[in-house]
Amino acid sequence: MSTAPMIEVSALKKVFGDHTVLRSVDLKVAPGEVVALIGPSGSGKSTLLRCLNLLVVPDGGAVRVGGRSFRFGASASLPGAGELAKFRAATGMVFQQFNLFPHMSALANVMEGPVTVRRMARAQAETLARSLLAKVGLADKAEQYPSRLSGGQKQRVAIARALAMEPAVMLFDEATSALDPELVGEVLGVMQSLAAEGMTMVIVTHEIAFARDVADRVVFLRDGVIHEDGPARQVIDAPREEATRAFLSHFH
Ligand code: ADP
Ligand code: MG
Repeated sequence: MSTAPMIEVSALKKVFGDHTVLRSVDLKVAPGEVVALIGPSGSGKSTLLRCLNLLVVPDGGAVRVGGRSFRFGASASLPGAGELAKFRAATGMVFQQFNLFPHMSALANVMEGPVTVRRMARAQAETLARSLLAKVGLADKAEQYPSRLSGGQKQRVAIARALAMEPAVMLFDEATSALDPELVGEVLGVMQSLAAEGMTMVIVTHEIAFARDVADRVVFLRDGVIHEDGPARQVIDAPREEATRAFLSHFH
């Protein structure tokens, strides 16, 4: 028995100027699956993640998330503005730099999407936001402004804010790379509990131990294609490709 993938990317291509960053990327992610995306700096990990929620518009290939699919290049079927907003809402993105609204409390940051994009009544959005802040361990920080929060707390607010859109998938782009080492664990802990709840996730990370332990699959991006793709432990502990082995040797 097989279920349709939650994310399906085929022959994805992205060019910046004369630099082909993504040559032809094929990737399927099953519902509830957690995929760690690793690769050298500049290999296109962020670009691939951004193509998944169309923050970057691909030059060729196709992207499908849940029931929405788009083709790019010669036979393009591009989304209109309304469709694009719905598509982005279905793909929650968490960035290295938290991107919280500095002039809004943690609670207001989490309420913003439900109120403005989902047109949720404020009282209902507040209930949702408070429950999500509790879920990421920040029930007591709801009224705080970002400047009063630690990096780990800010990133947990950013995760709650993404979850408030009730996304079909969550995308993490080096969500812990900007954090002081002692704050990394609290953010990884939230990501791990989301994974355990069955959220479909694609995680760009340099936390190799986390990828090994929490991801179902590890995907190694190199030279514009997926160079190796396999069960997390197999790819990390016994990579089949020499280039994967060479990359992973930097982390030991
Ligand atoms: P990674 O996240 O793996 O470090 P990126 O996806 O950020 O890699 O970048 C891949 C390549 O694409 C890099 O050479 C980078 O300079 C280039 N690039 C990324 N975004 C842009 C952009 N908006 N305009 C031009 N070049 C870009
Ligand atoms: Mg990047």
